[in-house]
Amino acid sequence: MSGSIELVQTTKVYDQISVVDAINVKVDKGSYCCLLGPSGCGKSTTLRMIAGHEAVTEGDILLNDRNVTRLTPRQRGTAMMFQDYALFPHMSCLDNVAYGLKVTGVSKVDRYEQADAMLGLVNMAEHANKFPDQLSGGQQQRIALARALICKPDVVLLDEPLSALDPFLRIQMRKELKQLQQKLGLTFIHVTHSQEEAFALADQAIVMSRGKIEQVGSPRAIFESPNTPFVANFIGGHNVLKASGSLEFLSWSAGSDSDDPLLEANTSFSVRADHITTQPRSDKDVAVKAEVIGTEFQAQFYLVECVLEDSQSVTCYLPEESFDVHLISSGKSLYLYWSQERINTFRC
Ligand code: ADP
Ligand code: MG
Repeated sequence: MSGSIELVQTTKVYDQISVVDAINVKVDKGSYCCLLGPSGCGKSTTLRMIAGHEAVTEGDILLNDRNVTRLTPRQRGTAMMFQDYALFPHMSCLDNVAYGLKVTGVSKVDRYEQADAMLGLVNMAEHANKFPDQLSGGQQQRIALARALICKPDVVLLDEPLSALDPFLRIQMRKELKQLQQKLGLTFIHVTHSQEEAFALADQAIVMSRGKIEQVGSPRAIFESPNTPFVANFIGGHNVLKASGSLEFLSWSAGSDSDDPLLEANTSFSVRADHITTQPRSDKDVAVKAEVIGTEFQAQFYLVECVLEDSQSVTCYLPEESFDVHLISSGKSLYLYWSQERINTFRC
């Protein structure tokens, strides 16, 4: 069974501060959801409230439309995998996994049979008799996952599950997590501060800042049109600019057939770094003079940092052909172009 989760005005107050502030969001049954945001924004607190490890100050939590706000973790049908795995050091892998069933009163024969099957599912059957300190980080993580899954939860909650792993293993384990979630058809809610990780995994991403939700959507929808300057800055690859100074002309000229200005004076907007070119594609493109202040080779493209005449910074990702053709280096003056359709105005 898999479950949907709904948060309704869910709030957590610590020392008179709302660290999670009346958030409303729905996570679909069977989806992979990532809670994304900088450190301290309230992700773990939100996850712990869903798990029942943290009391809700105000608001409700619904699991499959059932109000579980006042239920204990075990009564809810959720399972949590902690950031440090929290394995019992004095127990074998098999015992660690079987333990979850012991406390629910399953017979010894049944619990070892199920724990064996679960170890098989996470490719750890051959390590059943080892102790946690005899395992690598990735293997410990698989055991922690097996332990979370053995009680057949409707929703699996994972708090920064990949952060203790080295970068290579992190990418491998993230693939395994997604494959397992798809195979089991369960709802996963995965907390991370890495937009790259969230974008790679999530069907639905929830971007948080200071206890509030900034945006909910598919990674692609969020990347295509960030709702707020915070989201644009946090997910990276975007320039947050103002229709003033060097870009003031955007507030009086549409450059198109319509007489409406593109933007209101002084408003902020964003444009993706990979949507900026050094060659116009149409005579309606926005064109602005800039000076290169730094370049970085990034394998698939060059990251070129520029500054406009009014000091606004613009970063562009240029393909190596453009980089070579324009002999780009620090101190060079050039024009930057982007299509008017590429301008993202913020909704909030
Ligand atoms: P995140 O997981 O996004 O890094 P947390 O949910 O852990 O953030 O914390 C959100 C805020 O709540 C932080 O400012 C943190 O200091 C505060 N906080 C978390 N747990 C407690 C607690 N038990 N008592 C007081 N403040 C807490
Ligand atoms: Mg946290």
